[in-house]
Amino acid sequence: MLYIIKVDPNRENMTVGALNALKKSKIVIGVEKNLVMIEDLIEGKIIHEKTVKDKTYLIELGISLAFNEEVTLIDYEDPETFGLANLFFQNLGKYDKIDFKIYPSTTSINLSATLLGAPLTDFIAIDLGSDLIPLSEIKEKIENSVKANFVVVIYKGEKHFKLIKEILLDLKRGSIWIGVVNNMDYRIAKLTNINSNELNSDTILIVGNKMTYMENNKLITPQPVLIDPYLHPLTKEFYTNFINNESHDGSNKTCGYYPCHAMENQQCDFCYCPFYPCGDGSTGGKWIKNKNVWNCIDCTWIHKKDVVDCLKPKIKEIILDVEDLKTKKEDLLKIRRECIFNS
Ligand code: SF4
Repeated sequence: MLYIIKVDPNRENMTVGALNALKKSKIVIGVEKNLVMIEDLIEGKIIHEKTVKDKTYLIELGISLAFNEEVTLIDYEDPETFGLANLFFQNLGKYDKIDFKIYPSTTSINLSATLLGAPLTDFIAIDLGSDLIPLSEIKEKIENSVKANFVVVIYKGEKHFKLIKEILLDLKRGSIWIGVVNNMDYRIAKLTNINSNELNSDTILIVGNKMTYMENNKLITPQPVLIDPYLHPLTKEFYTNFINNESHDGSNKTCGYYPCHAMENQQCDFCYCPFYPCGDGSTGGKWIKNKNVWNCIDCTWIHKKDVVDCLKPKIKEIILDVEDLKTKKEDLLKIRRECIFNS
């Protein structure tokens, strides 16, 4: 019987299933780094400590021993994604039937995401560790993932960091937030502030999408949330005028509060935000502590020209009555998201 488990980056994240597999096994195969972590758990067992990272060799050794004994093979990567499970199945055809069980692990993706905060919503994971994948394929995968606004998790990005940077800059994502995870250490920075010398062969990069933001040194890609709207009397007055085409187009420099946000060429078409409260910090809003009040002072997004151009015709179509701000909030939030992605 062959069990494939993972111990990295520390035994704290092993599953109970993996622990039981180890207990049952007479033979344990692994690299030194992993065996040291579980020394007390494998005492008295036959240990095959391998220093080479030859995946095929490890698989074949595990299979050959498992015909007669219970064997645990410790994967130094994530078995179920870029690790040994794949290679195991690719080689299985060479052998007679063998009993096996592969235990899912706490993947490097899970662990990195937890350290960084909550950066993953829809995401794509790409492993750049193999020398057998052409650069053209790597480039296409990264480009298309970023264009489709996925969060992109990159394993072993060190070698190709220059290329990653070039692609992101070409796609005008220089200000995108990125989490850099080196084992249990992490740093969050904008692309342009990350240097290749802070990456190593085990580094995981989590490249945020257009909505990813940093707050309290944590990386967050917000999930859509629906918060009951509160319509201030001034909001009602504004949208009554908006529906009747009596509100202001473009910058309203005659307004005593202009510019109410410190920005050039502030557009005042949405003097009152139709999405309030959005509860989504990606455009700069945040909760006021202990007050349960959403504060938009740092959100300049709604006042940018390209954003107004995207929003206005769509909002005109669905807000036909002031009460629609309440009853059509789901549609409004979809429009908001669409225009964040388009802007
Ligand atoms: S102004 Fe910005 S942060 Fe505030 S509700 Fe509107 S979109 Fe959200």
